Amino acid sequence: MYSFRDIASYHKDLLSGNITCTQVVHELLTEIEKKKHLNIFLEVFRNTALNRAAELDTQLKSGNTGKLAGVVIALKDNICYKGHQVSASSKILENFTSLYSATVVERLLAEGAIIIGRCNCDEFAMGSSNENSAFGNVLNPHNEKAVPGGSSGGSTAAVAAGLCHVALGSDTGGSIRQPASFCGVVGFKPTYGRVSRWGLIAYASSFDQIGPLSKTVDDAALVMEVMAGADEYDSTASQKPVPAYSQEIKNYAYKPRIAYLKDCMESPGLDAEIKARMERVITALKNEGYTVDAVDFPYLDYLVPTYYVLTTAEASSNLSRFDGVHYGYRSKNATDLESTYKKSRSEGFGKEVKRRIMLGTFVLSAGYYDAYYSKAQKVRKLLCDKTLAILSQYELILTPSTPGTAFEFGKNSADPIKMYLEDIFTVQANIAGIPAISVPAGTHSNGLPYGLQLMARPFEEAELMGFAKILEKY
Ligand code: GLN
Repeated sequence: MYSFRDIASYHKDLLSGNITCTQVVHELLTEIEKKKHLNIFLEVFRNTALNRAAELDTQLKSGNTGKLAGVVIALKDNICYKGHQVSASSKILENFTSLYSATVVERLLAEGAIIIGRCNCDEFAMGSSNENSAFGNVLNPHNEKAVPGGSSGGSTAAVAAGLCHVALGSDTGGSIRQPASFCGVVGFKPTYGRVSRWGLIAYASSFDQIGPLSKTVDDAALVMEVMAGADEYDSTASQKPVPAYSQEIKNYAYKPRIAYLKDCMESPGLDAEIKARMERVITALKNEGYTVDAVDFPYLDYLVPTYYVLTTAEASSNLSRFDGVHYGYRSKNATDLESTYKKSRSEGFGKEVKRRIMLGTFVLSAGYYDAYYSKAQKVRKLLCDKTLAILSQYELILTPSTPGTAFEFGKNSADPIKMYLEDIFTVQANIAGIPAISVPAGTHSNGLPYGLQLMARPFEEAELMGFAKILEKY
């Protein structure tokens, strides 16, 4: 079987004729079948992928190649691909076929990518373990008793298990970076507005971003370069020109000033080995002449509550469109309009999604709006300002990606608060709208991987990925 290392060496092998796209897709399809028990793919687009591979093989012969020619990409099951099913891993959208493709999908295809299938995730991207999918758990390829993380658990496990070259995830509070940490791959969340959200099934619109999961930072940079940029279908997508990230990070020679958050290091939930790893990296960087300073951020405890008040509010509004009339599932027991809404939603949504819709409806209700929603908006502004204040003195913030390694199935299920605290280090970037990346940082003595996270100033993805490449080697 072809052993994929990164896109650049894969392209060399394709161009030299060592392999063909068709061969590679066949091999991956066999591998997907072999690892079916991991429950990663909800659907494999076998024919689409094989036809496309044949097309690309012909194009490659004529020397006509895109930046992602032949790169096999898996989608999270909340990203639309025209003519293919998409369900957000929810019963309410089961058997729904997408009428159009997400902008990111169009852009990947225009550069020669092959879309191989859609991956399991937490229902409507709500979760940190993939245990909230209506279609069963995804197993962590490193240890099948452990969760892969979430919500982009399937996409991440697909990259880790070698079932595709790159996958797309979405990140509202850590759903790319947290599973990346748990599965030992690179996970990148762009600046809010860097990548179009057109065709992404919305969870919390002022937080959501699509981003890549990959084996290397270089691959993430290339995919980002293709996906990012203005889009007439998404008015929140920035007009700022997109740098050639893959080139810029090659020549990255700058020594950024790095801050780390004292409060993260002292966080009671932080695993001792991950903490020790952080300390070793900090010392090594200092020895190399980098400025690495501890800074105060005494707001850590406000991040998760602010995130959950605001995202559930946005979700309660976004998910109101799933009413048994417009899309997907309609209850067979409905007798009139009201019972169509009630029964379809009660039967179609899972437990966690219902919990969040109710919480969100509550914080937006007339009597509590000021106490919760308005207050959380103010706190968001404050957290954003405080984060940007650190980033005015430093180019980067370094933290662990997650407090621990992948946990066992069921460990956090009974206590949603415990599960929500898994996001303690990742939600800051979404609250502030800044770019962030998780880079594999080694293997814990329990045999599981974990990552370190970097955050940067808005739209400084080149800086972020440039240094992430250096961090990859530490
Ligand atoms: N784990 C977080 C949540 O459950 C993040 C989800 C996400 O980023 N989509 O909300």
